[in-house]
Parts: sequence; C-alpha cells; structure tokens
Amino acid sequence: MAAVTLSEVRKSYGGLEVVHGIDLEVKSGEFLVLVGPSGCGKSTLLRMIAGLEEITDGTIAIGERIVNDVPASQRNLSMVFQSYALYPHMSVRKNLAFGLTNLRMPRPEIERRVAEAAKILQIGELLERKPRQLSGGQKQRVAIGRAIVREPQLFLFDEPLSNLDAELRVQMRVELANLYNRLGTTMIYVTHDQVEAMTMATRIAVLSKGNIEQVGTPYELYNFPRNRFVATFIGSPK
Ligand code: ADP
Ligand code: MG
Repeated sequence: MAAVTLSEVRKSYGGLEVVHGIDLEVKSGEFLVLVGPSGCGKSTLLRMIAGLEEITDGTIAIGERIVNDVPASQRNLSMVFQSYALYPHMSVRKNLAFGLTNLRMPRPEIERRVAEAAKILQIGELLERKPRQLSGGQKQRVAIGRAIVREPQLFLFDEPLSNLDAELRVQMRVELANLYNRLGTTMIYVTHDQVEAMTMATRIAVLSKGNIEQVGTPYELYNFPRNRFVATFIGSPK
C-alpha cells in the first residue's frame, strides 16, 4: 500500500519553477531517503508533503486521501527539523507534551506518551531541564520525542542530524534506525549526505535540480546507477 503518492507535483516561486513534475510513491512502512545536493528541492518537497508549502500543480495523497486542501495540522504526520525548534522557556517535559495539550488530550494519556517517548530516546533524566541546559544531541532527541508523542502515521525528517558533530551523527543514525525498527512507521528522510542515505534507507530517491533521477534500494543505486549524476553522487564505482 502507498503511504504517500506524489503525482506530477510542481512548485514555482515567483514564476521560477524549482520542482518539475515529480512522481513518487512511498510505500507504507518504508524508510525512504530523499537525497541530493543543496538547493535541489528536498526541503520544498518535504514541506509540500507536510502542508507547510502550497503546491503549484499536481496532487499529493497521504494514504488514499488527497491532501492538497488539507491543512498541515490535519495530515496526521510529524516533522523533525534540523534546527530542533524547541520552546526555550519550557522544560523538556512541557516541550514533549505541548502539542498534545493543545489537542486537549486527557492528562494520563499525555503522561503515558511522554514517558514512552522519554524511554525510547533515553531522555528520562532530562525531563525537568530547559533546552539551554541540553547538548545538541539531547536537543535533537527531544525534537524527535516531540514528533513521536503524536503517534503519527508518517514521519518527515529534514536533515535532522546535520547540526551534530560527526561522532554524534553516527550514533544518532543508529538510534534513528532502531526507532524505525521499533515503530515500523513510514519515514521520509531528507539529507544531502550520501553515507546517511546508503546506511539508513530501505529505498533512496536521488533528486537533482527539482527532478528525481532514480529511485531504488541502496544496492540498486550503487550497482546500477542510471546515469553519471547518480553514480557520482552515490559514490558508485561505475
Ligand atoms: P534543498 O532543501 O534541497 O537544499 P530547497 O527545497 O530549500 O533545496 O530549495 C530549492 C530551490 O528553491 C532553491 O533554488 C531555493 O533557492 C528555492 N527556494 C526555496 N524556498 C524558497 C522561497 N521561499 N522563495 C524563493 N525561492 C525558494
Ligand atoms: Mg533543505
């Protein structure tokens, strides 16, 4: 089953087209990595799926439902950004609970979800701290926790590890892979980092200048790149 279907999706800013009629089917339960150089349209594509950016043409469906006119808050997805976007004046606990409190969810259910997310991300000790008292890796865990508590049907990640130092990035890659294995939720993960793409994805879509060059498993892209761009970008010997 398809979790997300993009059909002929286009985006223009002030008459300049930056996404050129993308077709892409993301399967339910897969970890799809959208990879490509800076400026190729990855964030734009993700933001259109999230409903944070209007699409200029085409259709986006989440599951069976066409969401072109559905606001972001009603798309049943969670997005994690590079910049964490935590509320600085709130404790970690409040940061995690905030979106749920807004939904008027019963208190015991909020507490259950916060405790569960804290356990998965190993931030149980940090719940009473403020964001400024956290390291970069801890902040990113909280940002991921905030996405998890909503129990969405889809996770969107926009370069969530690119602010972390190299060692932590490798560690968080493993943690995200574990999270994916544990939750089994569909994930779309944007990065410009080929190593991240090759190690984390069940499938990779390679983007260049607003077009998808190739979609396939890491094995397929590495061994059978369709063109020189894909080969060079993926680091294939061919
Ligand atoms: P990526 O995430 O792959 O680095 P983006 O999706 O951010 O790329 O950007 C794709 C293209 O669209 C770039 O040329 C960028 O300059 C342009 N762009 C992105 N957002 C806007 C905007 N709000 N207004 C005008 N141009 C934009
Ligand atoms: Mg981007």
